[in-house]
Amino acid sequence: MANLTEAQIAELVTKIVAEMKAEKPANDDSWDATQYHGRKLIGVFETMEEAIAAAEAGYKTIRQTSVADREKFITSIRNYCRAEAGTMAALGVAETKMGRVDHKTAKHILVADKTPGTEDIVAEAKTGDHGLTLTERAPFGVVGAITPSTNPSETVICNSMGMIAAGNGVVFNPHPGAIATSNYAVDLVNRAVHAAGGPEILVASVRKPTLDTANVMYKHPAIRLLVCTGGPGVVKSVLSSGKKAIGAGAGNPPVIVDDTADIEKAAKDIIDGCTFDNNLPCIAEKEVFVFENVADRLISGMLKNGCILLTREQADALAKVVVVEKTDPKTGKVSRSVNRDCVGHDCRVILEKIGMHVGPEIRCAIAEVPFEHTFVQTELMMPILGIVRVKDIDEAIDLAVKAEHGNRHTAHMHSKNIDNLSRFATAIETTIFVKNAPSYAGIGFGGEGHTTFTIAGPTGEGITSAKSYTRLRRCVMADHFRII
Ligand code: NAD
Repeated sequence: MANLTEAQIAELVTKIVAEMKAEKPANDDSWDATQYHGRKLIGVFETMEEAIAAAEAGYKTIRQTSVADREKFITSIRNYCRAEAGTMAALGVAETKMGRVDHKTAKHILVADKTPGTEDIVAEAKTGDHGLTLTERAPFGVVGAITPSTNPSETVICNSMGMIAAGNGVVFNPHPGAIATSNYAVDLVNRAVHAAGGPEILVASVRKPTLDTANVMYKHPAIRLLVCTGGPGVVKSVLSSGKKAIGAGAGNPPVIVDDTADIEKAAKDIIDGCTFDNNLPCIAEKEVFVFENVADRLISGMLKNGCILLTREQADALAKVVVVEKTDPKTGKVSRSVNRDCVGHDCRVILEKIGMHVGPEIRCAIAEVPFEHTFVQTELMMPILGIVRVKDIDEAIDLAVKAEHGNRHTAHMHSKNIDNLSRFATAIETTIFVKNAPSYAGIGFGGEGHTTFTIAGPTGEGITSAKSYTRLRRCVMADHFRII
C-alpha cells in the first residue's frame, strides 16, 4: 500500500466513496454513516441512549469471559485492522479531505501491531507479617470516548483495543467531520470481536454525533470513565463533566537542532516526521529552532528532501490564508482558528491558495520566520514548517518552551551533545521527547515502545494503553497466604 501511485490512490478513494454511498438516494449528497456496501454498520444507533445500552449489554457479557477470550478478541481486531487498513485509510481521506492514504494505511498497521492487549493488565501482590494484599486492575464498565477527525478510525480502533483488553465496553461520540470513517471502525471492531466468539456489539456509536449526544454521554450513569482525544475546547468540556476523565489534548511540538547534530539526517528526519499524514498527528514537528551556524546547511538538506523555501512575503501571505478570523455576531469578539480547508492538505494544494504552483514532489513548505510568526505560534496541522535561527542552546530552549505553550505534549531534538539534550528534555516537560529521529518514533514507528493515538498529557496517563482504562481494587487476606 505504501508504494501506490497517486493515480492508484485516487482510484481507491473513488471506489471506497462509491461503496460507502451504496444505496443512497440520488438527491442526498451526505454520507450515510450507518451503511457500507448496502450493509448496516454494526453498533451504530440513532440515539446515544441506545448506543450506551448496547455497549453496557456487551460489557455485561464480557464480564463473564476469561482473559484468554478477551485476548482472542484483541487478536481478531488486529487481523481485521490489518486486512482493512487500506479501506479505512481511503475512507478517512475521502471523508475528511485530510491526510494521505499511504500514511494512514501505515498508521492502521501500527495500531494493529503495537497497541498493547491484555498483557498490559498486571496485578500486584504485597506480602509481609500481616499476610497478602492483592491489587488488581478492574474495568470501569462502559467508557465514553470522544475521537478526533485527524486520526479517526486509528483512534477508534486503538481506544477499543485498550478498553476491551481492560474488560470494558465502549461508546464513541466521534468527530462529526469523520462519522463514516469512525463508524466503519466501530463496525470493524464489532465484527472482529463477534468472529472471535464475543458479543455481537461491544463498542457502539451514534449515526449523527453532536455536542448534545456528547452531553448525554457525559451525564449518563452507565458511563464511568470519559476519554477525550481532541483540541483544547473538547478536552476542557470533558474535564468539566464531573466524571473521571482522561484528556488527550493539543500540542505544538518544537524541534531544536544544535550544531553537533548530523545535519543531513536531521533535515530528512524532520521533513519525514513533519509531512507524515500531511502533519495531522499531534506529535508531528510544527516549528524548528536551529543554531545559526548550521541553519543554512539544515535548510539546504530540507530542500533536498522535497521542500520549497518560501520568501518572507510568501510566508506572510500564506499565514493570512491558513488561519482565519471569525467575528462573533453577538459579542463582536474576534477569534482566530486554523483554516479547515488547509488542515492536513497536500502542500501543493495549500500553496495554490496564494497562487504558487508546485509539483507533487514538493511535500513541505519551509520558511525562515521570526518567533512571533503564525508558522511558529499556531498548531497548523499542515505541511508548513517555520524555522527560527537561534544563537545558542539557551535561546533555543527558551523559545522552544514558549512556542510549546505549556501543552507539555511533544518535543524533538537533533543533537549529539548530551548536556543540551538533557537540558531541553528537562525544561520542556513534554509527555514525549524524541531524540535524533522523526516524530513518529515517539509512538513506536521506528522507535521502541507501544503505540497509541491518545496521548494524555493534561491528565497524566501519557502514552495510554489498556491499564489506563482500569481502576485499582485491593483485596486483603490478613495474616495468611504467605508461603514463607
Ligand atoms: P476537535 O477538538 O475539533 O474535535 C474533537 C472532538 O470533540 C470531536 O468529536 C468534536 O466534535 C468534539 N467536540 C468539540 N468541542 C466539543 C465540546 N465542547 N463538547 C463535546 N464535544 C466536542 O479535534 P480535531 O480537529 O479533530 O483534532 C485536532 C486536535 O486534537 C488538535 O489540537 C490535536 O493536537 C488534538 N489531538 C490530540 C491528540 C492526543 O493524543 N493528545 C490526538 C489527536 C488529536
